[in-house]
Amino acid sequence: MSEHTIIPVHPQSAEYSLLTPSQLQAMTRRAERDPDGFWLDQAERIHWHSNPTRAFCGSFQDDVEINWYHDGTLNASVSCIDSHLGDRADQVALISHRDGTDEAEKLTYRMLHERVCRLANALQHLGVSRGDRVAISLPMVSEAPIAMLACARIGAVHVVLFGGLSAEAIAERLVDSGARVVITANEIARGAKRIPLKHIMDEALKKAGAESAVETVLVLRTTDAPVAMLPERDLDFHDFVDWFEPDCIPEIMNAEDPLFLLYTSGSTGKPKAVVHTTGGYMVWAAYTMGMVYTHRPNDVLWCTADVAWITGHTSVVYGPLANGSTTMMFDGLPSYPQPGRWWELIERHKVTMLFTAPTAIRSLMREGDDLVNRYDLSSLRLLGTAGEPISPDAWMWYHDVVGKGSCPVVDTWWQTETAGIMLGPIPGAQKLKPGSATMPLPGVSMVLTDTKGDVIEGAGEGCLCVTRSWPGQARTLWKDHARFQQTYFSFSPGLYFTGDGARRDADGYYWITGRMDDVINISGHRIGTAEIEEAVGTDRRITECAAVGVPHSVKGHALVVFAIARDEQTSITPEDITRQVSLAIGRYAAPDEVFIVPDLPRTRSGKIVRRLLRKIASGELDTLGDLSMLSDADSVDMLINTVWKEE
Ligand code: ATP
Ligand code: MG
Repeated sequence: MSEHTIIPVHPQSAEYSLLTPSQLQAMTRRAERDPDGFWLDQAERIHWHSNPTRAFCGSFQDDVEINWYHDGTLNASVSCIDSHLGDRADQVALISHRDGTDEAEKLTYRMLHERVCRLANALQHLGVSRGDRVAISLPMVSEAPIAMLACARIGAVHVVLFGGLSAEAIAERLVDSGARVVITANEIARGAKRIPLKHIMDEALKKAGAESAVETVLVLRTTDAPVAMLPERDLDFHDFVDWFEPDCIPEIMNAEDPLFLLYTSGSTGKPKAVVHTTGGYMVWAAYTMGMVYTHRPNDVLWCTADVAWITGHTSVVYGPLANGSTTMMFDGLPSYPQPGRWWELIERHKVTMLFTAPTAIRSLMREGDDLVNRYDLSSLRLLGTAGEPISPDAWMWYHDVVGKGSCPVVDTWWQTETAGIMLGPIPGAQKLKPGSATMPLPGVSMVLTDTKGDVIEGAGEGCLCVTRSWPGQARTLWKDHARFQQTYFSFSPGLYFTGDGARRDADGYYWITGRMDDVINISGHRIGTAEIEEAVGTDRRITECAAVGVPHSVKGHALVVFAIARDEQTSITPEDITRQVSLAIGRYAAPDEVFIVPDLPRTRSGKIVRRLLRKIASGELDTLGDLSMLSDADSVDMLINTVWKEE
């Protein structure tokens, strides 16, 4: 792999940085020396009803028990709202910009408090109490975070479901989680498309039948579209909720009481319902977002992730609000009704921190620089990304064209299971390397191991594992602790196995190479998917690509590459791509087959599902498995036709 560019600390970021490089080093050393003391100090970032006296209890061995701050008590909604009412009640907490409208809804911390309390009282009136599950399936509107915080207020466990899920996928999750109440909307507008959310929910409840515990469905009307209501089950959200008192005494929770269940993206198979608890999660959300996003008064953080993903939970709702910041939501698409929509919103709302996924960056990049340059983006001071490896060229575009070279780009690595950032730069205190998620945050103890689970020291490449628990670690998988142990702790006893591969360079920077399940082994050379995809992606004629290995009798794996051309007129041939990979990596890595395709199969959170591509490329068409996680199941037929049309 070529040597990478190093971006020095940006002068502006050094100004607002909370830490100098030497302070960061001291903090990291302290966390290593005295983890308990360190994490008790970090616990002060949030509001406790009674302070914890111990940080971690438990073990990664045997049954795996994870327990943080176990004698502390708190309420997450108090940390996010009430604790700010003293000094910033009239500061905007939430900007919600609805597509097709000119004016955004702006809720101050005081208004947010009222709205959350009304819904909390309404839920209590419906019989929801401590520990009960509430499913939330809403567009990106203010009622989504309000619903999450209202659950937290009364000790109910929220289960946010993505609005694009099929009726089958919703039914499965409603039954699995045992939700008693559902909060949904009549429909979701996605660009010109309408998703009849309530109708899909009705279908899901029909499918779930007697297995579902749902008694009430609260229906928010986000558009004028008519909606069928079942009189004994369905209630209009505002008609019902707005009558309740705007104050609600928070339920005092134990630190280890569950705050939410969240299903993973399903990139590698059947989604898992991860359980996060109250105290550790809140400290982690405040700590990770506070360290990497260094919130200051007047900051407006726009994380474009849907609230149904962990990035939405932590970077749209709990992280910014715990830190007293202003968080922004938008329910539309990046380029609808016309390209440039996102840039227009950044200019209008003076967004200071933008946080999005590599796939969005690549599609915005495809629209060209002129469009970005038409808007005043001078409010921006920090750019973030997460979710998939970002290739250095997309990183540089984000940095140079969107950030005009003066905003640090923070590439942050995390998982639903980690709840927050594990690897990521501290702006102003660290140099950046485009394509690297930098280093573990202080207190995060990462190692690389070989495939047998033995730790690799110094520079090298291997499986990314964590040696010590962190406050935001998932405690278990819902009703399936055995699967939790098996998935994360059986690889190398005593280590949390992330499932991802990474390379650590001589400076200690980490480079995610892809998922370990996707690693390609060609004639004894192990190559991560990210490395091949980076080599293909540097060709400006390619927007996005995916590499997979299929069994080969001699070489172990044959390499197959799927690539999306920038536009239909682009002349790029499979031979060009083969040449590109041979040049960048070596002749041994030359792809055996290359397909130029219009799109790739993605999860509903936008991630490429390489598992499916592998099956299609190797002709295992009968065992494609569960497709419910796909955003567009039709893409599968299209791919099968492309790969097998000549056979
Ligand atoms: P499932 O676990 O159901 O297969 P998933 O792993 O895609 O789905 P998430 O928890 O949403 O579900 O995603 C976490 C994964 O996303 C990580 O394990 C990693 O593979 C990838 N990822 C996240 N951030 C980054 C990043 N900055 N760089 C590279 N990869 C990343
Ligand atoms: Mg995963």
